[in-house]
Amino acid sequence: MSSEQVETREFQAETRKVLDIVINSLYTERDIFVRELVSNGADALEKYRHISLTEKPEFDAHVPLEITIDCDDKKHILTVADTGIGMTKEELETNLGTIAHSGSGNFLEELAEAAQKDVNLIGQFGVGFYSVFMVAKKVRVQTRSWDGSEGHEWESDGGGSYSIKPCDGLHRGTKIIIELKDDAHEYATKFTIERIIKQYSTFVPFPVKVEGKTVNTVQAIWTRSKSEITDEEYTEFYKFIANGVDEPLFRLHFSADAPLAINALLYVPQENFETLGMGRMQSGVNLYCQRVLIDQHSENILPEWLRFVKGVVDSEDLPLNISRQALQDNALVAKIRRVLTKRFIKFLAQQATIDSEKYEKFWKTFGIFIKEGVTTDFEFQKDLGKLLRFESSATKPGELTSLDGYIERMQEGQDSIYFINGPSRSALENGPYVEMFKKRGIEILYTLEPIDDFVLNHLGEYEEKKLVSADRGDLHLPETESKESEPVEQQGEKLDDETVSGLCEFFKKTLGDRIQEVKASDRLVDSPAMIVNVDGYMTSSMERIMQAQGGEMAMAGKKELEINPASPLMKKLAAVKEEKPEFAADIARQIYDNAMIQAGLLVDSQEMVSRNYRILEQIAEGD
Ligand code: ADP
Repeated sequence: MSSEQVETREFQAETRKVLDIVINSLYTERDIFVRELVSNGADALEKYRHISLTEKPEFDAHVPLEITIDCDDKKHILTVADTGIGMTKEELETNLGTIAHSGSGNFLEELAEAAQKDVNLIGQFGVGFYSVFMVAKKVRVQTRSWDGSEGHEWESDGGGSYSIKPCDGLHRGTKIIIELKDDAHEYATKFTIERIIKQYSTFVPFPVKVEGKTVNTVQAIWTRSKSEITDEEYTEFYKFIANGVDEPLFRLHFSADAPLAINALLYVPQENFETLGMGRMQSGVNLYCQRVLIDQHSENILPEWLRFVKGVVDSEDLPLNISRQALQDNALVAKIRRVLTKRFIKFLAQQATIDSEKYEKFWKTFGIFIKEGVTTDFEFQKDLGKLLRFESSATKPGELTSLDGYIERMQEGQDSIYFINGPSRSALENGPYVEMFKKRGIEILYTLEPIDDFVLNHLGEYEEKKLVSADRGDLHLPETESKESEPVEQQGEKLDDETVSGLCEFFKKTLGDRIQEVKASDRLVDSPAMIVNVDGYMTSSMERIMQAQGGEMAMAGKKELEINPASPLMKKLAAVKEEKPEFAADIARQIYDNAMIQAGLLVDSQEMVSRNYRILEQIAEGD
């Protein structure tokens, strides 16, 4: 071969950084490079198996689908070969010269951070192939595409560059020839390689042959009968497909023959990788048809909000030669998706009754996805209501209740489920909104996450009970037998009606168009005043989120101020407004701001502070 045919290229800058991170941060977990190469080989075989059904390729069609590993213990060379789709020259350059993730800007920072935090995380990034440089002095990749085009050899020492040249005499597939570093000679021994394959790659669905002997079990675990599969096997399979080292939190092995033939093995991991700073997860479920992988990380087989689930779905009913595009609009896929999603939701609801503590762990880690489902997926929204959990006035701090639990405890005559959002349980319990609930012994859910009001508003009702935010203006709490010994009534003597309406007028005049209406409250017990929302479904917490995003006060929903005719402050104000209207106006504005703050809404802090000083001055003067 003439030397002109050898082309030398620099690695893309990002690739060099990845190489650097992989080589320098991961060296304690060097075994995983075997797993990465074997799983790349298996992917290439899966792709070929799929292509051979759709395209009927002729080149090397007789070559069996397998992975072969050879160990040269003398020369310290390890060779991993597969008979998968192989790569053309262009594919070789893009696949092994660049990093596919370059679109996401902070990929490298996230990767570097993950590498430091937890080596297990690195598997989630798919830096796969480059991990070979943890052990390699030099790597050669000989490959020939399934289309029969010319074969090529790629070579690199993991430094700044690689070279590519044509290579004759290759069969379909890819062969990776690794010259091991001096401190990595063990990887060219049969014993070590066999051990690693057994540990990580038992479930590769093609024969993995080490020195001619098959070392894995090839049968697809999800097609075996449940009674034959041990817990260990289930866990091992989870680790295999999820690239994980932990045990799964839940697993569901679901088989059905009619109306659809489905075999599904689904797992919930222990961790939510999205909160570990890894960006948005891709779907973790692979779709098979008669044990042939047709869609890896399938976005069609489960809804997006179930992207934290790992596993496989296999259906005999799907046409084998279906293309990935066709999956999207395939009615049968949609049907399988519906059946599986319903089954999975039911499964989670069952787990909650079997082991509520474990379910709460699930909820704390993955509840955010369930909430996402309620707000984005109309199809399953109603089913998801069962899975929601919140603190409430009937739970101890930190304990959670379901909506079903709430309904069981509902008072006679109560037809709504009430909730209120706030930054913490104690802020809510000391605030104005729950006073009458406490007094009348009506349970109220505490929604402590900003997104919760969107979730409950999207849900609208649950088991025919309306979901109602306690900061609504038109709230009418049912008359109930008081739980407490004292009768239900507000504190002390109330102001007479005329004085109250005069007071309301005064507030209205002072506050102007900041407030839609001011009226006497029939639900405040101790607090002098509170803000309520007039716009049907807008709650203060939703408004907070919108303000944080848009910043415009103009977006504020219509508000009413409710004042408490039995509050000592209101009684005093009724008198002061006659004697010192200016001072009274400041007090009214301050009451309004206080109520806004208790609703978690924005006030003009500068204005409030100077007014507050004016009031203090007056008081210090002896008023
Ligand atoms: P990942 O496997 O996560 O995509 P890798 O760095 O391991 O990342 O591989 C990059 C790409 O190189 C793969 O997506 C695949 O297209 C290609 N590739 C790697 N190994 C093989 C192989 N044995 N046969 C065919 N293509 C391969």
